[in-house]
Amino acid sequence: MPTISKENYLKAVFLYNNRGGEQMAGTTLIANELNISKAAISDMTRRLAEEGLLTYEKYKGMHLTPKGQSLALQVIRKHRLWESFLHKVLKMSWSEVHVEAERLEHHTSDYLIDKIDDYLGNPQYDPHGSPIPDAKGEMPPDRPLLPLASAEVDGAYQIAHVHDRDPQMMNYLSRIGLVLNSKIKVLEKFDFDGCIHIELNGQPTLLSEKIVEQIKVIPIEYV
Ligand SMILES: [Zn+2]
Repeated sequence: MPTISKENYLKAVFLYNNRGGEQMAGTTLIANELNISKAAISDMTRRLAEEGLLTYEKYKGMHLTPKGQSLALQVIRKHRLWESFLHKVLKMSWSEVHVEAERLEHHTSDYLIDKIDDYLGNPQYDPHGSPIPDAKGEMPPDRPLLPLASAEVDGAYQIAHVHDRDPQMMNYLSRIGLVLNSKIKVLEKFDFDGCIHIELNGQPTLLSEKIVEQIKVIPIEYV
């Protein structure tokens, strides 16, 4: 049975390496992400390499092997299905579900998660818009997501992904009526500080740079 820290480690490397940047995960980055010492990370990296779960080269960073990747995808599947279940069935807000899913993902059998998946009707995206791997570890097809910061003035967009880490921000967004799949129009962009003025539910709304950075959108015809 994999340990929690091993699962979190593989998950962190997978998510970092698949974020769309060139650089691969390094030990310092994963140490910061998981909030553990660099010594503990070096130890874990060596162990996981010995187990055939990842490869590590000093200046090139870490790559998961197919075995490591499949383990990471199973943890991510459990996390995102739990988030969906807690949100849809227990009606928990999208700001609460991440913390609970962080725990549950390590204590759920493949049998149970497949049951939950079927019960939910095999959703492809979680309440934050992140893709859910299927039982074989396959991700749903890629969507053409755009960072909100690159949206064009006068363009219409649908909210497709909101980063799941900041409950305060998600609560604020719910309060102003901005949720997953909300439709917005970009009214004005303030390049000097990164704020964006949008139209949301017929109301002009100003989003700070910090919020803008956490949101990805899909272009649509019109609002
Ligand atoms: Zn989450």
